[in-house]
Amino acid sequence: MRNELFIDGRWVKPISGGTFPIINPATEEVVHHGPAGTAEDVDLAVKAARKAFDHGPWPRMSGTERARYLRAIATGIRNRLTELARMETIDNGKPIPEAEWDIGDAAGCFDFYADLAEELDRNPEEPIAVSDARFTSKAVKEPVGVAGAIIPWNYPLLMAAWKVAPALAAGCTMVLKPAELTSITAMELGAIARAADLPPGVLNIVTGAGSVAGQALADHPDVDKLAFTGSVPVGSKIMQAAARDIKRVSLELGGKSPFLVFEDSDLDAAVEWVMFGIFWNQGEVCSATSRVFVQEGIYETFLERLVEETKKIKIGDGQEPGVLLGPLVSRRQMDQVLAAIDKARSDGAKIAVGGGRPAGFNKGFYVEPTVLVDVPLESDAWKEEIFGPVVCVRPFATENEAIALANDSKFGLAAAVMSTDDARADRVAAALRAGIVWINCSQPTFTEAPWGGYKQSGIGRELGRWGLDNYLETKQITRFVSEERWGWYIK
Ligand code: NAD
Repeated sequence: MRNELFIDGRWVKPISGGTFPIINPATEEVVHHGPAGTAEDVDLAVKAARKAFDHGPWPRMSGTERARYLRAIATGIRNRLTELARMETIDNGKPIPEAEWDIGDAAGCFDFYADLAEELDRNPEEPIAVSDARFTSKAVKEPVGVAGAIIPWNYPLLMAAWKVAPALAAGCTMVLKPAELTSITAMELGAIARAADLPPGVLNIVTGAGSVAGQALADHPDVDKLAFTGSVPVGSKIMQAAARDIKRVSLELGGKSPFLVFEDSDLDAAVEWVMFGIFWNQGEVCSATSRVFVQEGIYETFLERLVEETKKIKIGDGQEPGVLLGPLVSRRQMDQVLAAIDKARSDGAKIAVGGGRPAGFNKGFYVEPTVLVDVPLESDAWKEEIFGPVVCVRPFATENEAIALANDSKFGLAAAVMSTDDARADRVAAALRAGIVWINCSQPTFTEAPWGGYKQSGIGRELGRWGLDNYLETKQITRFVSEERWGWYIK
């Protein structure tokens, strides 16, 4: 594990010499000390990125050339998949198979954006048919400049990939600020980029506290674009910082996503997808389907099956084989989730299963997978993101009622619908106010498809070609081609 920042292609100690502890959430042991970057380190990193953008080869080389580096990074990640997955589990707590899935996806993300970088060369310009024959016009895409990326702790390397890969494909240079709770694999990304011979300054990685290094990056006047994933309050701060210099900004924020289960659903499939929608990654998922609506006719049977299956989930250290639910990322996160459950109980909700720390764990930030019922619509448990393995389940009578309740949220990241009636599923998908709608499933995420939220869940879209657009400016180039003079002032 590393203890230096990656700036201008080199490993450097943070100027302050400060460190922060890295804790394994399964054992509560301090496994390492990460380098605590401050505003001075961020400034050096931004200067390096600025120099690489303004004077270096990166934005000037062809998309095809950049693609070669991206593919080398993808290969570098894949070659170390097992090791990186283990690091992710020690840092974040997630079970090894989930970590392996994430690392594989992160590699795939670099390959995908390598393809799109090549595509930029194939379609370098778009002719524009203007309404005056004396002119021709075209639109071209150019990189935005220096991008600052600030990412959360729930998918450490994958969230880095979602931002670094499209930014680099577009020709931007970047300063990445990983979450202080999970910096290990992001630092390894620096080593992988270096081994891939990425030109100095193209990717810089500064670890450290959000309020210090993160805020300094958001505030830095030489950053052209900010890409943020995290909570709504911090997203709002990022947007305010961006507003001052009119930085481009994309935000991926929280959610309280609904899952509508209709009576005609296959019961086993519905129970499993509902579980996957809230217990995968310990429920520390922005798109977790944490409000489940079940149609009256199957409500009791569904709940019984959900409780029965939830009790079977193997909880433990993510490194142990067969574990399906690891610890939460930190003591703070565990305390917040337990407090949210207690508050739900005092607001009148009932606990169908779970509700506390699992028996037999003296160490580790574990929370039982928890199903809440009779949750009042006005309570925090119903309205606010808990970001843990806690789901609220309630019955509904009609399609319209379920849609109205589902849309009654300040968030709009994702939604899911389960029904064997395709026409109904399509109708509901169209009516749900969310950036992502899953039919007969919950959570599958594809690098090729757009990802992002409505309402307070964010601004802009990541992934797919939309993710590349985040890092591109559109330039209009118009030429006067008439043989005649313009003739306005001079006849
Ligand atoms: P957070 O907002 O506290 O932190 C996210 C990142 O922002 C971290 O790197 C942190 O260091 C940094 N940060 C904190 N304060 C900052 C400041 N003042 N200026 C600049 N940067 C600052 O969120 P978290 O606790 O790390 O993650 C959980 C939240 O993220 C949840 O609300 C979840 O919904 C959201 N999330 C959303 C998505 C998505 O795709 N929409 C994905 C993952 C997580």
